[in-house]
Amino acid sequence: VVNAETGEVVIDNGEFEYGDEVPPRIRFDGRVAIVTGAGGGLGRAYALELARRGAKVVVNDLGGARDGSGDGAAAPADRVVAEIRAAGGEAVADHNSVATVEGGAAIVQTALEAFGTVDILINNAGILRDKSFVNMTPENWQAVLDVHLHGAYHVTRPAFAVMRDKGYGRILMTTSAAGLYGNFGQSNYAAAKMGLVGLMNTLKLEGEKRNIKVNTIAPLAASRLTEDILPPDLFAKMQPEYVVPLALFLCTDQCPASGNIYNAGMGFFNRVAVMTGPGAVPAAQGAVPTPEAVRDQAAAITDLEAGRTFGQLAEQVMDVVTKVQ
Ligand code: NAD
Repeated sequence: VVNAETGEVVIDNGEFEYGDEVPPRIRFDGRVAIVTGAGGGLGRAYALELARRGAKVVVNDLGGARDGSGDGAAAPADRVVAEIRAAGGEAVADHNSVATVEGGAAIVQTALEAFGTVDILINNAGILRDKSFVNMTPENWQAVLDVHLHGAYHVTRPAFAVMRDKGYGRILMTTSAAGLYGNFGQSNYAAAKMGLVGLMNTLKLEGEKRNIKVNTIAPLAASRLTEDILPPDLFAKMQPEYVVPLALFLCTDQCPASGNIYNAGMGFFNRVAVMTGPGAVPAAQGAVPTPEAVRDQAAAITDLEAGRTFGQLAEQVMDVVTKVQ
């Protein structure tokens, strides 16, 4: 693996090594992080690297199958905690489910009891129950919403209260290309994952004055959630470790943004945004436009060239007011 910045070559001996300095420059000493769903996949990779860089980590995972079934097992979270401790790091396991109000509160309580506070929260826990829409039963809809969207609410709310009081917080939501762009058979998952973007959009504003930054990552990584979706040759190149650097950067003091969405996978990162086009007013000033006028100016109304992003609702309302005047 070649470090793009330094050109340093790191031998991949099966154990993952990052091409950074030892000790690494970005550190989390004194910080307490909660990573939900950290018993495997991306969550495990986040937890290991946060701990390697000095954070005290709550490794949350209730166990269970990929579709959220099963009564849970302590093993995955405990294994990751053992890995962190074996490497000299600090971590505690938490086996609560994010899918209930009580579970979310208990996860934050684990952090408070073990380490006294919470500075970083990565909402990562997830399940899949894919079905084409007509076959999407209320149970499958509900289960996926409960873990992804409601789960983030359940954990973030008590964590946000701690962060607000201490005047510091870094929160990461996990969305998906399925929500951002669409994916056949994932209506429940796509809806939940875009719901998280809406949640972020409001929390970035509510956290602004308290130095709470909230961002969202859309990962692409080999895990049990993607093992049957990704082609086998790509799967091998998509280790979660390639997503970790951006996720961790967004959890640092130096995090440059709040309210941003990023794609991250295979060592490639880019920003995703809701774009708003320049639009058109297809009528004389003050007049109600006709559907025919909308049809005739559909190209201008639809055009995203010279599109822009807005930081909050009020900016978009001002844009409309300016345009119609
Ligand atoms: P994963 O299955 O390895 O990890 C998800 C973890 O969440 C599992 O260990 C599971 O036990 C845990 N979990 C499930 N329900 C839980 C609950 N109620 N409470 C606590 N923990 C629970 O899969 P992953 O690919 O590492 O996924 C991590 C996150 O990334 C998910 O939110 C997923 O939707 C998202 N994501 C992944 C990809 C990808 O390419 N892997 C793409 C887009 C989004």
